[in-house]
Amino acid sequence: MTSLDRTQLYIGGEWVPPVDTGMIPVENPATEEVIAHVPAGTAADVDRAVAAAQGAFESWAARTMAERGEVLGRLHTALAARAGDIAHTVGLELGTPLKVARAVQAGLPLTVLRGYADLAVRPPAEETIGNSLIVHEPVGVVGAITPWNYPLHQVVAKVAAALAAGCTVVLKPSELTPLVAYLLFDAAAEAGVPDGVLNLVTGTGPEVGAAIAGHPGVDMVSFTGSTATGRAISHAAADRIAKVALELGGKSANVILEDADVTRAVKVGVGNAFLNSGQTCTAWTRMLVHRSRYDEAVALAAKTAAGYTVGDPFDEGTRLGPLVSRAQRDRVRGFVERATARLVAGGLEAPLPAKGHFVAPTVFADVDPADELAQEEIFGPVLSIIPFADDDEAVTIANNSRYGLAGGVWGSDERALAVARRMRTGAVDVNGGAFNPFAPFGGYKQSGVGRELGGYGLAEFRQVKAIQR
Ligand code: NAD
Repeated sequence: MTSLDRTQLYIGGEWVPPVDTGMIPVENPATEEVIAHVPAGTAADVDRAVAAAQGAFESWAARTMAERGEVLGRLHTALAARAGDIAHTVGLELGTPLKVARAVQAGLPLTVLRGYADLAVRPPAEETIGNSLIVHEPVGVVGAITPWNYPLHQVVAKVAAALAAGCTVVLKPSELTPLVAYLLFDAAAEAGVPDGVLNLVTGTGPEVGAAIAGHPGVDMVSFTGSTATGRAISHAAADRIAKVALELGGKSANVILEDADVTRAVKVGVGNAFLNSGQTCTAWTRMLVHRSRYDEAVALAAKTAAGYTVGDPFDEGTRLGPLVSRAQRDRVRGFVERATARLVAGGLEAPLPAKGHFVAPTVFADVDPADELAQEEIFGPVLSIIPFADDDEAVTIANNSRYGLAGGVWGSDERALAVARRMRTGAVDVNGGAFNPFAPFGGYKQSGVGRELGGYGLAEFRQVKAIQR
C-alpha cells in the first residue's frame, strides 16, 4: 500500500467501497515503481453505478442548459484549483514531461470544460421545421471508457459534453492511469455535481469496460482507445442497438510540398510526432516530403530528433519521457527491430536512462508506404519519412491508410488547402494551424465514429424528436 492509494469508487454522489476487495497496482513508468493502487471494480459495481445514473437522469435532463452550465462552471472552478496536482499526477502515472503535462494534460481539459460550462459552444436544443418542433434531447445514461495517453482530457471531452447535453455518466478510466480521474471526482464532490450524475468505476477493460459496453441500462457508449477494443465495444453495443461514439487510432500524414517552409514544417512535424513520447492518436507519424526538398528534410528531422533530451519527466529540461508501460515499450521496440528502412536517428542502440520504459526518438527515411512502419499505429517516438513526386502522389500516399484521424500540409496557402481538402481524414492543419479545442475532433475510416469537442461533441450525446403541430 502507498500514500497515493485510492480504495473507493464514486457512485450515487458518494465515495463507496467496491463490492470486491481486489486492487490494481499503478506504476510510475519512469522509475518502474508501484506508486499506488486502485480498486479492481467488477460487473456488480457497474450495476450499482448504472442504477445511480439511471436514477439521476430524469431530473438532470429536465434542468435547463443554463442550470447545467452553472454546475459545470463550479466543476471547472474546483478542477482548476487542482491544476498543479493534475500535471504532477499525470507526470507520475504516465511520465509526461512536466512542461507538457502543465500545458496539455492539465490545461487542455480545463479549456474544454470551461467551453461546455459557457453557453457559447452549445448548439440550440430546439428548432422549427415547418409544422414540426424539433427537440434535441439527451440520449440517456452514457458509459464512458477512456485510455491512458491523455488521461484527463479524454475523460473531460466525454464527461463535460455528456453532462452539458443532459446525460448522466458512468466512467471507467484506463487502469494504467486511473489516478488523475480521481482528482476529477474529488472536484465533482466539492462542486456539488448532483448525486448519480457522474459515477466512477475503476477496473480492467475485460471486466469493467466490457460490463459497461454490454449493460442494458447504458444507452450510449463513448469510447476512446485502440481500434481493436473499439470493434469489441461496437459488437457489444450492437446486440441492444445502443449508440456508440468511437475515437480510435491514427497514422497521420504530414505533407511537405515543394514550396513549403521546410525548416518550420520539419521542426513542427517532429515535435508533433514525438509529443507525449509519440503516444498521441493524432501524431503525424508519416512525414511525406517532395523529392526536391527530401534530403534537406531528412537531415533536419534527424538533427531535431537527436537534439531531444530524454529522461526524468520531472526535470524541467526533459522533452521526452518514457512510454506508459513495459508492454508498450516492448511493442514499439519490436517495430524498430523489424524495420528495414534507413535509420537516421535514434534506434535501439541509442543511449537511454538505465531505468524506465524509454525508447529513443527514432527517425527512419525511405520508408515504403506499404511497410508496417507506414501502416501500423506504433504509438511511440518513431517517425517515418517518405518521398513523393507531385501533389497527386502525396495525396495518394497520405490516403493509403486504414486510418483517417488527422494530418498536416505545408506549402503556399491555396495549394496546401487544396491538398488538405483531398485528404480523407477528420482534421488537417495547414501551415501549422493551431489545434482548436472547440472544433469537431474525430476520425474517418477505422479512426472512429462520431465527433468530440465543442458543439459537435455535445450533439453526439443527443437524440432528436420531431413534434408535429
Ligand atoms: P485500449 O483500447 O487497450 O484501452 C482503452 C480503454 O478500453 C481502457 O480503459 C481499457 O481498459 C478499455 N478496454 C480494454 N479492453 C476492453 C474491452 N474488451 N471492453 C471494454 N473496454 C475495454 O487502448 P489504450 O491502449 O488504452 O490506448 C491506446 C490506443 O488508443 C491507441 O491505439 C490510440 O491511437 C488510441 N487513442 C485514440 C484516441 C482518439 O481520440 N482517437 C485518443 C487516444 C488514444
